[in-house]
Amino acid sequence: RGADVVVAGEGEVTLVELLDTMSGASGRGGSGGAGRSTAEGTGDRTGRLKSVAGLWIRDDDGRAVRTGTRPIIGDADALPLAAWDLVDVERYRSIWRARHGYFSMNVVTTRGCPYHCNWCAKPIYGQRYTARSPEKVVDEMAWLKATYQPDHLWIADDIFGLKPGWIERFAALVQSRGAAIPFKCLLRADQVTDSVARALRAAECRTAWIGAESGSQRILDAMEKGTRVDQIATATRLLHEAGVEVGFFLQFGYPGEIREDIDRTLAMVRTCAPDDIGVSVSYPLPGTTFYQRVQAQLGQKRNWVDSNDLEVMYHATYVPDFYRALHALVHSEFRARRAADALAQVVARPWTFTRRHARAAVHVAYHRVQVSLLRRRLSRLAGLTAAAPPTGLIPLLTPDAAAVPTDQSSLK
Ligand code: SF4
Repeated sequence: RGADVVVAGEGEVTLVELLDTMSGASGRGGSGGAGRSTAEGTGDRTGRLKSVAGLWIRDDDGRAVRTGTRPIIGDADALPLAAWDLVDVERYRSIWRARHGYFSMNVVTTRGCPYHCNWCAKPIYGQRYTARSPEKVVDEMAWLKATYQPDHLWIADDIFGLKPGWIERFAALVQSRGAAIPFKCLLRADQVTDSVARALRAAECRTAWIGAESGSQRILDAMEKGTRVDQIATATRLLHEAGVEVGFFLQFGYPGEIREDIDRTLAMVRTCAPDDIGVSVSYPLPGTTFYQRVQAQLGQKRNWVDSNDLEVMYHATYVPDFYRALHALVHSEFRARRAADALAQVVARPWTFTRRHARAAVHVAYHRVQVSLLRRRLSRLAGLTAAAPPTGLIPLLTPDAAAVPTDQSSLK
């Protein structure tokens, strides 16, 4: 039962040292798996494992103890490529195509994020941010394209291309090497300039997801997000003008959020017209400032056990059903608008009418009815809240300070 050894944090170097130590390849001795019963005593094994930094192990009394600190890998270019040779790529491809109609693979170009959003859990990297060079990333893309011909890439970074000029250099290399693969990535709104938007398009970015979170500046400031509502609108406009689709991550229920803030978020979605949305309720993840500040309200509730995607774990302004109805309303409004956009195109060019447009007409009618019903339900549920709204959390950083990434040279 349980684990004998846990690799904590970045695992690449630690895991190799651990395996070498266990197998004896490191010269530190070895006698099989850490948990196996062998002639070697527990004390010997613990002694050897203690010399490997970056582990949690059991000491001689069975208590969990941490070995030395494993330094963060500073040179991300030194890491080897993902071991796709260990994956049955043809099977992976056929499952992707059957489910989604295309085949997508993953690439990672950075690790960590130096910003301060107080609900965002960053247990491994903290405030660190390391990036591979555009040259190495494009090498990998060229190799993936030649070897597996994926239809799409998900660039699975917290923030793609944060370093000034990185995205522009990346785009130039993608073009000169013929390495383009349509991709999606995550950006902050304050990153998007005209030059970044055009470079993303040139590199064949299909969709840029933005952590918009809220259309209320008051709530963004309380989250220590460090972005402004007008930046979200500008980023969306620039990306759309460049021909890049935009996804918004939205979050409701942050402490202190009231109906007015929610209406601002709904208005932002209507005005900016993103091409996709992801909606969640604020979630106190252990290790975050947000968690510490609402911990007392969690009571017996435990993360992942007593929660689901739309469960507000702490004392929120409205009853839980309010947030479920809100989630449904945002999606219904979004779908009604998307279907109406598709219909507007066919009205302008009637000879392009297909069954897809007939379905869109049904969707518009259905979602408009839904929107009207959900708005009424939302108003009724908002009225059910008896207690005074909880006070908002006072941010530790000013909005200006939250907009400045942590200076990497200040980190040990
Ligand atoms: S920008 Fe904020 S939400 Fe995004 S990864 Fe960084 S700290 Fe987390």
